[in-house]
Amino acid sequence: MLEALRQAKIAFEKDEVPVGAVIVEGEKIIAAAHNQNLSLNDPTAHAEILTLRQAAQIKNSSRLDGCDLYVTLEPCAMCASAIALARIRRVYYAASDEKFGAVENGARIFNSSSCHHHPEIYSGISEEESRELLQSFFRSKR
Ligand SMILES: [Zn+2]
Repeated sequence: MLEALRQAKIAFEKDEVPVGAVIVEGEKIIAAAHNQNLSLNDPTAHAEILTLRQAAQIKNSSRLDGCDLYVTLEPCAMCASAIALARIRRVYYAASDEKFGAVENGARIFNSSSCHHHPEIYSGISEEESRELLQSFFRSKR
């Protein structure tokens, strides 16, 4: 999660929404990214999507069985769906997102009948640090 937070801080410095993610296989980080919606002009360039793409390239497979994802904010519906498709084993997230989160809030993607892969979910890790970063970002936007 420390590396995911480091990624979130890079996003913050680039004026992107400060969310970072990493994918771990065994003890090794195989992918790390931060939100890049603005710099890539890509509405799907969330940290989770970018790490899933990197990891899939590295593993030369669309399935990431046995890989775990760490992200600083509760995944949205798009990312949760992509995480299920990639068959991520465990998802660790820091801050919950009552507005756009879709894991333990909103659509609860992994609990829906159309979702055929259910990763283990662990939330609240480094929650405070992630929340503070997001809050100071959105404060600076007002
Ligand atoms: Zn997302």
